[in-house]
Amino acid sequence: MSPLQDINPLDPGLPLDPLPGHSSRGRLERVLRRGEFAVTAELNPPDSANPQDVYDRAAVFDGWVDGINAVDASGANAHMSSVGICALLTRMGYAPIMQISCRDKNRIAIQGDVLGASAMGVQNILCLTGDGVQTGDQPGAKPVFDLDSMSLLETIRTMRDEAKFLSGRKLTTPPTVFLGAAINPFVPPFEFRPLHFAKKIRAGAQFVQSQYCYDVARLRDFMIRVRDMGLDEQCFILVGVGPLASAKTARWMANNVPGVHIPDAVIKRIEGAADQKAEGKRLCIDIINEVKEIAGVHGVHVMAYRQEEYVAEIVHESGVLKGRKPWQREARADEPGLVERMEALRQRGPVSPEKMAERAATSA
Ligand SMILES: Cc1cc2nc3c(=O)[nH]c(=O)nc-3n(C[C@H](O)[C@H](O)[C@H](O)COP(=O)(O)OP(=O)(O)OC[C@H]3O[C@@H](n4cnc5c(N)ncnc54)[C@H](O)[C@@H]3O)c2cc1C
Repeated sequence: MSPLQDINPLDPGLPLDPLPGHSSRGRLERVLRRGEFAVTAELNPPDSANPQDVYDRAAVFDGWVDGINAVDASGANAHMSSVGICALLTRMGYAPIMQISCRDKNRIAIQGDVLGASAMGVQNILCLTGDGVQTGDQPGAKPVFDLDSMSLLETIRTMRDEAKFLSGRKLTTPPTVFLGAAINPFVPPFEFRPLHFAKKIRAGAQFVQSQYCYDVARLRDFMIRVRDMGLDEQCFILVGVGPLASAKTARWMANNVPGVHIPDAVIKRIEGAADQKAEGKRLCIDIINEVKEIAGVHGVHVMAYRQEEYVAEIVHESGVLKGRKPWQREARADEPGLVERMEALRQRGPVSPEKMAERAATSA
């Protein structure tokens, strides 16, 4: 299949033609339904109001991923909103996966965001309950949790498939979205995890992205149960992976990020390496290579926090795309200088805040 099918000829930012059996008009659903191994990546949300920060961070994924996740105040820390990031990403033609956490907004605000996002061209939404406020740097914030991941999935599915709000009031144009959720096979209670996953499918999840996988044996056990229950036939499964920058970072994550499990053997492997960063990257590639062979796994979700510039290398070296080239941003005629800037970014990785300030000062 030609990737040209995944581009709207009028503008890459516009939704694609609807296809039978598809819920969205986006590239990610097309790739998965064609049976291709999908790659998504998480964008580190800027603590800034500068759109260029989003463009720069997205550019390093160019041509390597099928979707870019815009997180919603993950870890209960404020950053640029997922709605804002998605608005910028759709403007550039990228395929964002808008994450919605139920912690900060009630059902009225969320339903409005879903319509707004779909109108902007967002075709994928990841439904999360969200981390509790106590995990973030403003623990005094008021938690909302009017909905949770299940009722959020049901709400958006109702809006999409029945063209109505939760109240029953009609929508004139329903959102066209591919619905996702999170799973975590890596922490107890293990026997409950596949059941929780099945519940999310019943609520409307069409794809899931997992928490970081550093324990492939545990994933294999989970997938045996998932296949027995036929869940891999009902939902696309993308396994979360990410490079660890050092043994110190790994220990910090294992102790401080809720839901992250990193076996001691993994930490020791990184600790024993002369170049810990390179070993962390190697480990991530090794995990991808093991994960892609597990029956029922449909893709990987790369969360390379503050190491996003390595995503292309990791995807390339793991060979998961098997020569397939995901959509790549191209400059339009009305965007002079963009090709040059994108090329520079690809060579250098993300632009540092100091560099941004320097650039702003010289262009002023
Ligand atoms: C890919 C990915 C992206 C994420 N992005 C964000 C983000 O943008 N913003 C953010 O705030 N957080 C984010 N998180 C963190 C996530 O919200 C938390 O890890 C959460 O604890 C689990 O995911 P969920 O929100 O879907 O919770 P749910 O699966 O809805 O569950 C909420 C909590 O309740 C527990 N639980 C629910 N039902 C039961 C039961 N019957 N028995 C026992 N326990 C139960 C679950 O185990 C979980 O701890 C992300 C996680 C992943 C994996």
